[in-house]
Amino acid sequence: MSTDHVIEIEKLNKVFYTDEIETHALSDIDLHIAKGEYVSIAGPSGCGKSTLLSILGLLDTPSGGSYRLNGVSVDDIDVYERARIRNQEIGFVFQAFNLIGELTVAENVSMPLVYREGISKNERLQLAEAALERVAMAHRLHHYPAQLSGGQQQRVAVARALVGQPKILLADEPTGNLDSRNGEAVMALLEELHAHGATICMVTHDPRYAEFAQRGVHLFDGRIVDEETINQLREEEEVRLRALIDKARQSARAATA
Ligand code: ADP
Ligand code: MG
Repeated sequence: MSTDHVIEIEKLNKVFYTDEIETHALSDIDLHIAKGEYVSIAGPSGCGKSTLLSILGLLDTPSGGSYRLNGVSVDDIDVYERARIRNQEIGFVFQAFNLIGELTVAENVSMPLVYREGISKNERLQLAEAALERVAMAHRLHHYPAQLSGGQQQRVAVARALVGQPKILLADEPTGNLDSRNGEAVMALLEELHAHGATICMVTHDPRYAEFAQRGVHLFDGRIVDEETINQLREEEEVRLRALIDKARQSARAATA
């Protein structure tokens, strides 16, 4: 096995079982990400992007296939080992932020440092404040998440992911709730982390932000598809959506006629 790959995923599957329904969220995913690479993942809503990122971040386990992280299989490790690796290696920006409501902004951001050795509480809070400055949120240190707007919570979530200077950053639509100026600021932080050697995997459906990555991976219906296929699927989707819009408009017109 090559050691210059941080992430090596082969024949990965994920099936969710709810009541009588089986959802094949991911099918036969092969994905290799090199050390220091910056990869974007794109695809329509529900295609499996968040599921894939959660598995990459050791937050969820696959139903089948293999995953090697830094050249070591993580298929059979226990929850403690998962947590340890996650804490040492990975920064994660959740699509739904996942800030802890009972903790202040500063406490939320310093959380990833709690499990690191040799950092005092004071140092943690200083590092948290510095990270919050980078996302222009240092003026809200003592606020609680519920007292912030969606965009502000997202910026705090980005600060929390970056505070420990992770070697791997996994970001799930990190600009989804931001205006273009704040979106650019977050992208600049990701670029900086990347320039310092971090491996980045970012989910985004915004082509402007996907441009920042060195390589784009396209997901459709739980599978990785190539550029040509995705363009064709997009056109078909466009036709389907047009038809839905036309139907709704006709129905609205008929109702008001
Ligand atoms: P995306 O992030 O691309 O919008 P997700 O990875 O969130 O998509 O979801 C992929 C598919 O898996 C969807 O069909 C979704 O409904 C399903 N899914 C995701 N999480 C669960 C879950 N915990 N239980 C059941 N189905 C799920
Ligand atoms: Mg998602």
